[in-house]
Amino acid sequence: MKPESHQTVKIGVYVCHCGANIGKKVDVAAVVEYAKHLPGVVIARDYKYMCADPGQSLIKEDIKELGLDRVVVASCSPHLHEATFRKAAAEAGQNPYLFHMANIREQVSWVTLEGDDATKKAKAIVAGAVHRVRFHRALTPKQETVHPDVLIVGGGIAGITAALTIADSGKKVYLVEREPTIGGHMAKFDKTFPTLDCSSCILTPKMNAVKEHPNIHLLAYSEVTQVDGYVGNFRIVIKKKPRYVIEDECIGCYACVEQCVFKKPKFISEFDEGLGMRKPIYIPFPQAMPLKAIIDPESCIEFRTHHCKKTCVTACEEVAGRHAIDFTQQEEFVEVKAGAIIMATGFKTFDASQMPEYGYGRFENVYTSLEIERLVNASGPTGGEIILRNGEKPKAVGIVHCVGSRDKNYHSWCSLVCCMYSLKLAHLIKERTGAEVYNFYIDMRTPGKGYEEFYDKLLEEGVHFIRGKVAEITDAALAPEEEGKLIFRVEDTLVGMVRRIPVDMAVLSVGLEPQKDHEQMRRLFNLSCSKEGWFQERHPKLAPVSTFTDGVFIAGACQGPKDIPDTVAQAQAAAAEVMALIDHGVIALEPNIAAVNEEKCSGCHVCIAMCPYSAISYDDAKETAHINEALCKGCGVCVGTCPSKAITQQLFEDEQIFAEIEGLMAL
Ligand SMILES: Cc1cc2nc3c(=O)[nH]c(=O)nc-3n(C[C@H](O)[C@H](O)[C@H](O)COP(=O)(O)OP(=O)(O)OC[C@H]3O[C@@H](n4cnc5c(N)ncnc54)[C@H](O)[C@@H]3O)c2cc1C
Repeated sequence: MKPESHQTVKIGVYVCHCGANIGKKVDVAAVVEYAKHLPGVVIARDYKYMCADPGQSLIKEDIKELGLDRVVVASCSPHLHEATFRKAAAEAGQNPYLFHMANIREQVSWVTLEGDDATKKAKAIVAGAVHRVRFHRALTPKQETVHPDVLIVGGGIAGITAALTIADSGKKVYLVEREPTIGGHMAKFDKTFPTLDCSSCILTPKMNAVKEHPNIHLLAYSEVTQVDGYVGNFRIVIKKKPRYVIEDECIGCYACVEQCVFKKPKFISEFDEGLGMRKPIYIPFPQAMPLKAIIDPESCIEFRTHHCKKTCVTACEEVAGRHAIDFTQQEEFVEVKAGAIIMATGFKTFDASQMPEYGYGRFENVYTSLEIERLVNASGPTGGEIILRNGEKPKAVGIVHCVGSRDKNYHSWCSLVCCMYSLKLAHLIKERTGAEVYNFYIDMRTPGKGYEEFYDKLLEEGVHFIRGKVAEITDAALAPEEEGKLIFRVEDTLVGMVRRIPVDMAVLSVGLEPQKDHEQMRRLFNLSCSKEGWFQERHPKLAPVSTFTDGVFIAGACQGPKDIPDTVAQAQAAAAEVMALIDHGVIALEPNIAAVNEEKCSGCHVCIAMCPYSAISYDDAKETAHINEALCKGCGVCVGTCPSKAITQQLFEDEQIFAEIEGLMAL
């Protein structure tokens, strides 16, 4: 590209104080004075907050009055305000890509100790920007139409809320849930903190609404296996796993379950966290959605021996008048198109057996909190009765907070909900058994509406709180009254002594962790993950439900531990983002992407393997690499790796980069 001469460009430079953020460290007036003498600069100004309306007006007026054809703003990170200033330039009639942003906050004032050094560095960065902006060319974003349908992955309260919000706006939603029923963790709870409202009373109507909604296509017991395309135009392949029960035929009447050759439930119920039993043909729980039977081939005699009397089939035909059972059912693949995707895949709980000192799996009366959720649940394995394995009511119960959380050996993060759900369980246990309940906590964390008040209520109820991390739970009795008990050994840090507390039942408040398959999901949907495995939001404050992949949003606990109110709020936020995208109908694709010079390309495939966004393919006819402009994110990896120098990237062309270096070194 031929460089523009200094005479033919008119550059305006605008230096921001960002309040005291930049102004306190950098001598802004000196930077402005310096900028005035840089090649091509016709005006240089400073303003307290350049991003504010008056700051933007300065730029717009100069573009119009002085005929500026290039603009440099020296302020914060382009992540924050590049779009703001590009828009201002465009409103004044300038092509927005003839603008460049110099970061003198994150890269200078916030990280440089001495004021003189900061000012010098700011001048260098501004000079680099002025030199490079001369080589900018006017670019035009491409427009793509947006497919109006939406895919939501995960049918917990996050996925359900987002699906209903979007479907209510008239858009079609595909809701994919990998388990046989939607509901997620919330479906397992009896009550929810802090209001103690009945979980199923608030969840079941929503689950029903999903089923009834004409705009929601529920694909339960299904998984996404392939995702292609880009924002506005995703193509998704979904695997429907075989239930061995035809969904459209089954009416959820339980006749097959009742007439199964196994007279009694004999196999571990996954939904009841292993505390209850089910038959090989079962419905996970009475409010399951869809309310359809499913056969577990591992335990079904027909699958294992082919010699079952198939009483379930007879019952289905004779009692329900249906032919719903199909032992030959195979997995099925469905392809759908969507303009946007919401990931709502939730969390899993910490495996308590990783902490042998608490005896989970060794002592029969040591439970996880999720197991207790099932025990206290009226539709759980004991009908809501809190009993020990021997059927007796516990007289004393110990609840250990932070199991697997806030522990450098396991997870250093706070799981956010454990203090509150421990208080909830303490209340329910005390209410239903009259037992003495001990909470062993490190710090009590109750930030939330009505949460601290709930804690106060527990104190009034006479629940005991002992501040200290439980060292171990043993069955080693030292006195006759400890016989048959679980003994908690804990340092009570408020009293300053080690205590031994015998109880009948231990509850381990296990922390929240990312789903096991988060890495697989990350790759499939082209997402970023935090180092712990939570899906990464685009910006923690300004774009909390967006991701670095345009068109893919996140909601709920897959982004990090959170309670139900925050999950619902985030799901609605993700739904709003999706609706804004789809209602717009078209999207503008960023033009700062890579381009292949076909004459130079040797067809070596190196760039194809390196592209992190799968945006490059091989054009067999031309024998060259081809870049899908909609998928390219302009990361520059292909430009750097191309051995033939056949790939260039808009806004990062050699002339622009060399000019920037020249400017940086000029001081
Ligand atoms: C013991 C315990 C008690 C709690 N009690 C309360 C309480 O009283 N009040 C409160 O506010 N919060 C409580 N919470 C927190 C609450 O569980 C979460 O806030 C809530 O479940 C988050 O909802 P979600 O939809 O994001 O995730 P989840 O509930 O985990 O739902 C995720 C869904 O996605 C599905 N899924 C996962 N991966 C895939 C995939 N690859 N494809 C398709 N589907 C997939 C899952 O099967 C699941 O159905 C408690 C948590 C625990 C552990």
